Amino acid sequence: METDCNIKTTPKGFQCTLCNVNLSNLPSLDQHVKGRKHKTLSTVRASRKTQEEHSVFVSGIKPEISQTEITEYFQRFGPISDVIMDKAKGVYAIVQFAETDGTQATLSCVEHRMKGLKLRVKPREKKDFKMIPKKTGSENLQQSLDRLKPQLCQLMSVDAQMKHVVERFQLRDNEKEARGLLVQLLQEVFVEFFPDSKILPFGSSVNSFGVHSCDIDLFLDLENTKVFQAHAKSTTEQAGEGMSDDGRSEDSILSDIDLSTASPAEVLDLVAAILRRCVPSVHKVHVVGGARLPVVKFHHQELNLQGDITVNNRLAVRNTRFLQLCSGVEDRLRPLAYTIRYWAKQKQLAGNPSGSGPLLNNYALTLLIIFFLQNCEPPVLHTVDQLRDMACEEEECVIEGWDCTFPTQPIAVTPSRNTQDLCTLLFGFFSFYAKFDFASSVISVRKGCALPITDFLSQNKEEAMHEEKPIKTQPHGPKLGPLNLLDPFDLSHNVAGNLNERSHRSFQRECQDADKYCRSLQYHRKSTKGKPWGLVRLFTPNGEVPQAKTEQPTISIPFKSAALPKGLRDELHMAGDGFRLLWFQKVCSAVEGVLQRVLRCRLTPSAGAVFGENSVVDAAGEMETSLNTSTNDSCDSVDSQNEASPLGTAVVGAKRRLSSCSDASVSPQDKKPRLARKVRPELPHWICAQKHLVWAGRRKVRRELMKDADSRPEGSCVELESQVTTHIIEKEPALKQALEFKVQPQMLSGTESTKVILKLEPTCDRTGVFHDFFHFLEAFLPKMVETLMEKEEGRV
Ligand code: ATP
Ligand code: MG
Repeated sequence: METDCNIKTTPKGFQCTLCNVNLSNLPSLDQHVKGRKHKTLSTVRASRKTQEEHSVFVSGIKPEISQTEITEYFQRFGPISDVIMDKAKGVYAIVQFAETDGTQATLSCVEHRMKGLKLRVKPREKKDFKMIPKKTGSENLQQSLDRLKPQLCQLMSVDAQMKHVVERFQLRDNEKEARGLLVQLLQEVFVEFFPDSKILPFGSSVNSFGVHSCDIDLFLDLENTKVFQAHAKSTTEQAGEGMSDDGRSEDSILSDIDLSTASPAEVLDLVAAILRRCVPSVHKVHVVGGARLPVVKFHHQELNLQGDITVNNRLAVRNTRFLQLCSGVEDRLRPLAYTIRYWAKQKQLAGNPSGSGPLLNNYALTLLIIFFLQNCEPPVLHTVDQLRDMACEEEECVIEGWDCTFPTQPIAVTPSRNTQDLCTLLFGFFSFYAKFDFASSVISVRKGCALPITDFLSQNKEEAMHEEKPIKTQPHGPKLGPLNLLDPFDLSHNVAGNLNERSHRSFQRECQDADKYCRSLQYHRKSTKGKPWGLVRLFTPNGEVPQAKTEQPTISIPFKSAALPKGLRDELHMAGDGFRLLWFQKVCSAVEGVLQRVLRCRLTPSAGAVFGENSVVDAAGEMETSLNTSTNDSCDSVDSQNEASPLGTAVVGAKRRLSSCSDASVSPQDKKPRLARKVRPELPHWICAQKHLVWAGRRKVRRELMKDADSRPEGSCVELESQVTTHIIEKEPALKQALEFKVQPQMLSGTESTKVILKLEPTCDRTGVFHDFFHFLEAFLPKMVETLMEKEEGRV
């Protein structure tokens, strides 16, 4: 590391000049140097250096000189690996040799003449390679807000502010025209290579929600070209000649590829080549093949416009029409969408800078707005099913087997009876999602309601989603995640399937904060003292609304439909409405397993816990009965078994206890015994005792136990984690007095996403270690519970 010339010592520690980061101490420096970013940049720099050394800069050429001619001329000096032409003006080129000898031979030649032209040849300019610090997102966001603030503050109402946001950000006519011209230009170029093809814009450039800097999404429709190619092929075969009937030579671009069998990625490679070579001002062309929809990305220099071209995205053109229809039918949609999009951007909840990422994209966010508007009282927007019924026969449209029928004209749609103003609707949006149970729902804009997640858990999706398939038989269900939002037309697609737990949590937390803020006077009323009010405070990053503090340490175990083991998914699917109880029981059993078997805590019964006010709603009755009746006897049995054989028999105890609860694992909807209803029952809870610092130094012990052979992340293996605990217990001295704390599980749903909350409370902490154990459990327990649930299933 000392020899790494990128590392400089600074008064505050170290600086890596390559990656442009400061590091405060040696261990973090060490970690940084071994990290992916530093390694990638070092490799990129090395390859750039090699490229520079292997290439020369050639000027003085004319646009009519081709790449092949340049290659032919320069290969007399050595084998050539690439020639990059300046496409815009055609007056220079970069010639890259396979070896440095080629470069030297070229440079030592005094004069270069080609086709009567005198070429100037220079060594490649050596550019310092280092990470250019991006303008941080927050800086830009702040600047954008700073400009907007004074204008918003002086307006008289939130409605006026929302309309101003539209005015400020929407695409102007000249921008639309420029985009239109680019589409025309691309159409002219592509039709040369792909006869009868069409280039169709979709997305924000045309869906009525575009903002100044938005990208241009294009669909290259090759359907007619395929027909053309098939026809040409058959006539050629008949004629037995290398020429098609319209006289196009077989060595046109179409002869390189059979469109009827080529993959989208293969077609896109060709599209990329055409863009690179034939469209002026287009640069940075590259194919992104790994995505669900492969795409060619490019940048138009003059228009400073980022563009995407896809070839199998007809549905997107249709859903763009759908968004256009919605905003044509309902004037309030655009101000709402622009305001919420801007809010989401400020809060860094939406807009994945590189296209892919774990945040919502603008399409998904707009669908969330539409879904909310469908659920207002009375509804502001119709469901997609209702719109389909309003369409006439000629408007029927089926794409890839999905019913995409809706009226072409807004006039055909019955207007809404809802008269709420924009200010109220915006507040409504935040309240709606602040308490939306995402974990247990699948949002259907098609039906305008939340479908139960259990319908989507079974392997037998054909049956489970019967109602959701108007025409097409679905080969697979949507990819489930923390936020499940079905596409209005492709009902097998979760448009928010890219979200991770964290981004979903941030979205809901920000909705909760915004909901709180919208209840205040500052939201509704202009400040007489010139203070920020209305949207301004809503848009301010890191909100000025203080986060609610939790009084008691709690650990949250969210219901993650996507992470459930297969058998459990089927069981929950069968349980229908009672799935929460069943899942709660499984979680309790797993928590007990982790505490006893993995962390070797001693569990003893405790009395007196009762249901909190927010706890389980639907399944409360069954759970009250079942868990109450089971608590005392089961804990006794767990405790005694634990004493005798901590690792083996406790599981049986835990299982017996939970299944003895109510037989809910078989059928949670079963009736409960009448007697128990009279008593205000207890939640199951544990008093947990631990004599050893089983959380301290686990990583090191784990590493030693694994000897680096099969490195598993923390919490991924029950046996290994149990061994780590045993090792610590055997090697490390015990605490003078055992730490004791109460663990009380509670189920939350209905008012937010379904989850189990474990409330922890120290009952004896003479050595003051409770908080350390709690922080460890906070990360460890949810992970281990997931692992254990999977493992238990494997045993069945
Ligand atoms: P912007 O480009 O300003 O972020 P946009 O509305 O163009 O907003 P994009 O994310 O670029 O949104 O998506 C463009 C189009 O691609 C959408 O209008 C939609 O038709 C389609 N699309 C985007 N994301 C998805 C998705 N997750 N599932 C299905 N279609 C999508
Ligand atoms: Mg777009």
